[in-house]
Amino acid sequence: MKFLADGMLGKLTRWLRLAGHDVIYLGKSTLPPEKQDEDLLQAAKSGERILLTSDVQLHKRAIKAGLKSVLIRGTDVASQLAEISRRLGVKMEIVPENSRCPLCNGKLDPVERSSIEKLVPENVLKTSNLFWRCTECQKIYWRGRHWEKIIETVKQYRKAVG
Ligand SMILES: [Zn+2]
Repeated sequence: MKFLADGMLGKLTRWLRLAGHDVIYLGKSTLPPEKQDEDLLQAAKSGERILLTSDVQLHKRAIKAGLKSVLIRGTDVASQLAEISRRLGVKMEIVPENSRCPLCNGKLDPVERSSIEKLVPENVLKTSNLFWRCTECQKIYWRGRHWEKIIETVKQYRKAVG
């Protein structure tokens, strides 16, 4: 799915990308709040994206303008993902083959071990066999130690979504 996340939802943005969703995050801005809201609504409309926001007023404005919007109330990422699932009827699965780059939203491509040998630490080469590279920012991913944390959050999410 295609989402647009407000500036408060950076962590959620990275998680949704891991789950394979196309998420634009406009981040913190120095523009006045009113102008920021205008920009978000405009971007959601022109990109046909579902707005994700923790701002009740902005959520109401989006709905009034005929946009799709999900109001995010949870404070931890597992419950936030569960809110989106319940509202939109989508299941979140973290499968690296489908993931997008958490940093830039680029698509990930599997890469041969031999082509990245010089680019990752030696201990990683010893313990990992599967690698992916972001087609945009070129960052290389593998299932490292952080993978266990990811699995843990996925478990919490499943509990929360019921
Ligand atoms: Zn990237």
